[in-house]
Amino acid sequence: MKIYHLSAECYPVAKVGGLGDVVGALPKYQNKAGLQAAVVLPFYNRKFVHENKFDVIFRASNLFAGERMDFEIWKEKTDKLGFELYLIHIPGLLDRPEIYSYPDESEQFIAYQLAFLDWVNWSQQSPDIIHCHDHHSGLVPFLLQHSGLYTRLANTVTVFTIHNGQYHGAFGYEKFKYLPEVDMTYAGLLDWKGGINPLASAVRCASAYTTVSPSYMDELSWNSNGLEPLFRAERARGVGIVNGIDSQVWDPAADVMIAANYTVKTSKSGKQKNKKALCARFDLDVKKPLISFIGRLVDDKGADLLAEAVNRSINAHPDGVNFLMLGTGNPEIEESLTALLPHQPNQYRTFIGYNEELSHLIYAGSDFLLMPSRVEPCGLNQLYALRYGTIPMVHRTGGLKDTVIDFGDDGGYGICFDQTSVDDICYSVNRAISLYNDKGHMDLLRLRMMNLDFSWDRSAKQYIDLYERLITTI
Ligand code: ADP
Repeated sequence: MKIYHLSAECYPVAKVGGLGDVVGALPKYQNKAGLQAAVVLPFYNRKFVHENKFDVIFRASNLFAGERMDFEIWKEKTDKLGFELYLIHIPGLLDRPEIYSYPDESEQFIAYQLAFLDWVNWSQQSPDIIHCHDHHSGLVPFLLQHSGLYTRLANTVTVFTIHNGQYHGAFGYEKFKYLPEVDMTYAGLLDWKGGINPLASAVRCASAYTTVSPSYMDELSWNSNGLEPLFRAERARGVGIVNGIDSQVWDPAADVMIAANYTVKTSKSGKQKNKKALCARFDLDVKKPLISFIGRLVDDKGADLLAEAVNRSINAHPDGVNFLMLGTGNPEIEESLTALLPHQPNQYRTFIGYNEELSHLIYAGSDFLLMPSRVEPCGLNQLYALRYGTIPMVHRTGGLKDTVIDFGDDGGYGICFDQTSVDDICYSVNRAISLYNDKGHMDLLRLRMMNLDFSWDRSAKQYIDLYERLITTI
């Protein structure tokens, strides 16, 4: 079975968040299971591209708003990521360093999708599945079915996975000119409230759509940035599949980015060594419980509440707890975290920026990982924390609800709370401190967490089952 994954991100080529991790791992595990999965990304002028060798395997031109657009398909020579990696290079449009936030982002992603379809079509390929991830490739299912250019491929099975339903990639009809000729009878399938909405279009047109956890599938019906009625109407066609983790990249026994490797058996001493290294780096007292946060500093992650919650918790427990924050994002939130530093000079540190290596050391060296997210489609941080024996402290929402059981419940191992609020965060900090002082209980929970299986093997199989079901029924 031949699958093309279309995505804006893929670790280690280009990653901003969980989308990159998933697309960097899922195809590898699908190939392990005997499929032929490949990834097609926009071209990024980034380190991975400079440091690896590529062949230009296809060159062509198509029409983009009536103008000639040249494009090339680059293929990484050695398949070193465990799958074939293709980049779509378009001079002046897809040749830049950043993944998002250019003013002509809509044009970039439309051009990416058209070049992909033209390449597959003109090179006479017939993939079994085209798997689109998030709105950046959301127009593909519609175009395959309703543009005369791709009639040969019109029956290709498409799967659309929503990693974040808050972002739709919507744009106005003045950009309709960038699309190829389509059958206007069906143009309504592109529309949402008077604009073109790639996420809505993909939900309607893909053979099936998925979310990255079952609870998030339910949540979209009442929280999807305006698309709630659509998700309620299309609910029956949706499937929730929890993400896995790449257990080769995220393995405390082999991770080269941490201070000391450890297994379940050696986790007590192993974590302590990492905590020492982490605390030494940030000049924190290693004896205190260490609660960390890693993530995009946006309201969806509850990051706007961190400064106040940390401040209040430290005031309530002077000398009783340490906090470490790693993140980047909304400048106001960054400022709130930086502004707290002089007020809490002893028990609080923050690192504003993106730092993959430091994130690994934080997972390994912290006692607790705080995730007060308002919205969390799946969440990978809590899965990494579990694998590294770090107790997740999570708001019961989306994938966090599906993957973390409170330690007060049967078989539980995490700390769960019901609201993204400063009060709930502070209350869970109190629980974390009490737990930390009960060493025997901490040891037991660590063993329980580290023995859980959130590897991709299991989730990859669920996608394969879905593909097979779609191929036989469509
Ligand atoms: P999202 O995709 O919404 O950002 P996920 O929990 O699915 O959230 O994935 C977040 C991923 O990004 C994790 O691998 C996490 O470690 C990583 N990450 C987020 N922010 C940073 C940062 N500032 N530095 C390093 N890694 C980060």
